[in-house]
Amino acid sequence: MAFASFKEVLLDGLKNGYAVGQFNMNNLEFTQAIVEAANEEKSPVILGCSEGAIKYMGIDYTVAMARVAAETAKVPVILHLDHGPSFEYVVKCVRAGFSSIMIDASHYALEQNIELTKRVVDLCHPLGIEVEGELGRIGGTEDDLTVDERDATLALPEEAKRLVEESGIDALAPAIGSAHGVYVGKPELAFGRLQEIRDLLPNTPMVLHGGSGIPDEDIRKAISLGVSKINVNTENQIALTNTIREIFAKDAKVYDPRKYLGPGKAAIKEVVKEKMRLFGSSGRA
Ligand SMILES: [Zn+2]
Repeated sequence: MAFASFKEVLLDGLKNGYAVGQFNMNNLEFTQAIVEAANEEKSPVILGCSEGAIKYMGIDYTVAMARVAAETAKVPVILHLDHGPSFEYVVKCVRAGFSSIMIDASHYALEQNIELTKRVVDLCHPLGIEVEGELGRIGGTEDDLTVDERDATLALPEEAKRLVEESGIDALAPAIGSAHGVYVGKPELAFGRLQEIRDLLPNTPMVLHGGSGIPDEDIRKAISLGVSKINVNTENQIALTNTIREIFAKDAKVYDPRKYLGPGKAAIKEVVKEKMRLFGSSGRA
């Protein structure tokens, strides 16, 4: 199959009460593990790729790997730019063949966020490419914030409504207290805030970033409140690295990369399959 429609996949999740996982590609093993898991679970899947990962793999290799994955898969596969940093970078990814785009203008004031996000939507929509925008600050490097500081980083419902309506985005990532990377302490999602945003935007799929390490019951609650895309990367990275670490600890002489990358890939695949069952996307493709 060619790449699937981002919007169609997310709206089906929103309508039927499940979320589609975005799993980030870091190399060939990640790409294969993610798509094999999707095939076995009969789940739609989003391959996410950030600027850093694109730089690491090369943009042409990235698109080529994702394309082979989509063409050979029996389920919908999407290649999504994760945290697109600028209009120019979005243009580069659109030209290279990405099938959907996230523009992250969340560090700007609202007016500039709307302006840049709308510019990306105006470029992408005529090409059949759908867009995710972000509002508020998703944590990651700011985990030692106090509660007041944390509240200031959460997305405001009225601003969320303006960003969605004025830019025309297809999905919204509102900051609701999740963070990228490994959580310091228990993550506290702002469900009240999520509910308020959902009340104003009942038909907009919402995206939860930093999905690794959030308790299962919180994931289910977020899905019930309109989250239909959940991003997972850290847990897959940890699964791969821990597996390799164990192999090296047991056998200091191993040198064939297939002997440790193979089991590492299998470990990623298991994490992805578990997430698909938790998100309710298994059996939906
Ligand atoms: Zn993110």
